[in-house]
Amino acid sequence: MIEEYIKHVSNRKYDLEVYETDASGIKGNAAVVIWPEDEDDVRKAIMYSKRTKHDITIRGGGSGFAGGAVPQDSIVLDMSRMNKAIAFDKKTVTVQAGVVIDSLNMGLVKGELYFPIIPLNFKVATVGGMLATNCIGLRSKHYGRLDRWVEEVRFIDGLGRLQKTNDMKIFLGREGTTGVITSAKLKLTEIPDLVTMNLLSFNNITDCVDEAIKLKENHDVSNITFLDRICSRVLGLGDKNHVIVEYLSNQGKIENEEEIKSLSKLLEGLPTVLLSKNFVSVHDPMFKIENVDKFLYWLNERKIPCYADLGFGVVYVHLKEDDRYLNEMYNVVESLKGIVPGCLGVGLRKKGRIDKQIILDFMSLRQEYDPRKTFNRGKVYD
Ligand SMILES: Cc1cc2nc3c(=O)[nH]c(=O)nc-3n(C[C@H](O)[C@H](O)[C@H](O)COP(=O)(O)OP(=O)(O)OC[C@H]3O[C@@H](n4cnc5c(N)ncnc54)[C@H](O)[C@@H]3O)c2cc1C
Repeated sequence: MIEEYIKHVSNRKYDLEVYETDASGIKGNAAVVIWPEDEDDVRKAIMYSKRTKHDITIRGGGSGFAGGAVPQDSIVLDMSRMNKAIAFDKKTVTVQAGVVIDSLNMGLVKGELYFPIIPLNFKVATVGGMLATNCIGLRSKHYGRLDRWVEEVRFIDGLGRLQKTNDMKIFLGREGTTGVITSAKLKLTEIPDLVTMNLLSFNNITDCVDEAIKLKENHDVSNITFLDRICSRVLGLGDKNHVIVEYLSNQGKIENEEEIKSLSKLLEGLPTVLLSKNFVSVHDPMFKIENVDKFLYWLNERKIPCYADLGFGVVYVHLKEDDRYLNEMYNVVESLKGIVPGCLGVGLRKKGRIDKQIILDFMSLRQEYDPRKTFNRGKVYD
């Protein structure tokens, strides 16, 4: 019996039901749930997986849109008990993988430093989940992607070996197919002294993109978010396209802290509002800025809601489940040389839609680190 050697484990029906899905809404089923407290527990879970032949679905906050944390008759490894800070040396912080990004920054707030990769759902996303999906934050134009902010990671691979590495390609964006990330040494930076914003409205998409091209040249701009007409209406901003710009200087017209907070809150709530309207199938192709307007027009003509990080080029598309435009949309993405996935991972949602070379990379790393396919079996590729 597994409970004889791991303390926190359950196969009660109501516990298993909680873990059937994640933010993707795709349904699966859990065989058992394990909450490891340390690396030793993770190793025991791997041994248990070997014995029972169930694969392990690694779960952080369960906020992924790709269905990466959806079990398929799997052992769920919920990392939430591995949520401790391990070390802090002013320029870096080392934390366990289950730490939620908001808790990390709240813990640091008395200093003048923070971890700057903050996704919209920062109150839920964990360090492990963010690394595994290579997510981007709200200030992506200024701070770039996660890889710049990670110094070292510890993970336990499919053979139970503890690995310590700074080689990003092994774990970053690998969606748990190479191992369980147990802790990470993250780089910190100074909290900006000054933040201002602009809320710009436009009748047509071309003007939004032209504005974004200009804004990209401005060093003080930290974020450029596009909202289509549907999202603008949903947020009560009226029937126009909008561009929300954040500056880490005094260049924005919105200077009042409360107004900035309420605009940020509006953005944070947007994905959830769209999910509540049944736009649950979320996609994230990434484009060069020269090509993005063609894609935005295509979505607009079909009344498909979208918002975009134009500083980075990722367009967040919300379709309905089994949407009739899904395949056509991916043909358009391909014709415009879009990259899939942008930042949300492949999981179950985008399986079969990624480039063959990307799959080959996944397969060769898996062969090295998880040859028995202990983790996230059937995700990303079959
Ligand atoms: C409202 C909302 C807003 C969002 N905003 C953004 C955004 O701004 N930018 C962005 O990039 N994404 C965004 N996302 C997507 C999502 O938050 C990110 O993918 C996030 O990084 C997932 O973190 P998580 O802890 O919830 O991971 P989970 O959903 O639990 O897992 C995601 C994947 O990572 C794997 N994984 C989790 N923990 C580990 C670990 N310790 N070791 C190995 N593999 C692991 C899982 O198996 C799964 O494949 C948003 C999602 C929602 C619901």
